Amino acid sequence: MTVRIGIAGAAGRMGRMLAAEVLRTPGTALVAGLDAPGSEGQDLGTIAGLAPTGVTTGADPAAFLAGLDVAIDFSTAAATARLADAASGTGTRLVIGTTGLDTAETEAVERAAQTIAILRAANFSVGVNLLLGLAEQVARTLGPEYDIEILEMHHRLKIDAPSGTALAIGRAAAQGRGQPLEALWVKSRDGLTGQRPDGAIGFATLRGGGVVGDHTAIFAGPGEQLELTHKAADRSIFARGAVRAALWIAGRPAGLYGMKDLLGL
Ligand code: NAD
Repeated sequence: MTVRIGIAGAAGRMGRMLAAEVLRTPGTALVAGLDAPGSEGQDLGTIAGLAPTGVTTGADPAAFLAGLDVAIDFSTAAATARLADAASGTGTRLVIGTTGLDTAETEAVERAAQTIAILRAANFSVGVNLLLGLAEQVARTLGPEYDIEILEMHHRLKIDAPSGTALAIGRAAAQGRGQPLEALWVKSRDGLTGQRPDGAIGFATLRGGGVVGDHTAIFAGPGEQLELTHKAADRSIFARGAVRAALWIAGRPAGLYGMKDLLGL
């Protein structure tokens, strides 16, 4: 069976990589693209630097979803929430890579997952997903004497901070400590902050150049420090993971899935 795939955020940096990845993946067909109003009519092949495909970007989510098996969404948080609502109406499965969703937007995705299958990941790389498992294990093993700090660096165009992946690493570490991340996080520091609260999980954000995505989880304890680092060299790792997720989700019942489920971690 051929899985008919559409890309939301098709004209973006990830959207172009995704189009190229779908076109080279057997068992898939690239059938539609969605982008912001005003960016209609761009051929998905051409903007990915390949031969024209005859499939062009549109701006109407309902028209985009018609005739799709799976939509892969790497757009903006507000657009993702609207797409999740629309997809639960049409029964279209979703793969969501967009980060920076607020509480209401996250709830829209969770609500949609009651009627459709959704795989959401802040990072589609296999290495990062292993790092999440390791961070949880290390946090559990070392215990609260070890201070956890998460450092991330991304390209200068990124609009949200800390990165979705940094927060996912923090969430994994908090889980290792048996607590919700929201009870422990310190997302930025400025001025006279006072001492580090016991058990806090701190975040530090760097932005510059074309860095695709670097993340380090630091466990700083009495007399020693353990660091786990992942560096993404190329965005194609995210596109590969997302297209793999689209093939995987195509046969799944309603629910909210993650890369853990796909990778069997
Ligand atoms: P980008 O700004 O290059 O692309 C976003 C695209 O979304 C743009 O083309 C924009 O026009 C489009 N868009 C805006 N409003 C829209 C709407 N209403 N409907 C449809 N499309 C709309 O950004 P990017 O670097 O491609 O990243 C996109 C998202 O994916 C970000 O949230 C980023 O953090 C995330 N991301 C996730 C992963 C992962 O592995 N999960 C990897 C890389 C990026």
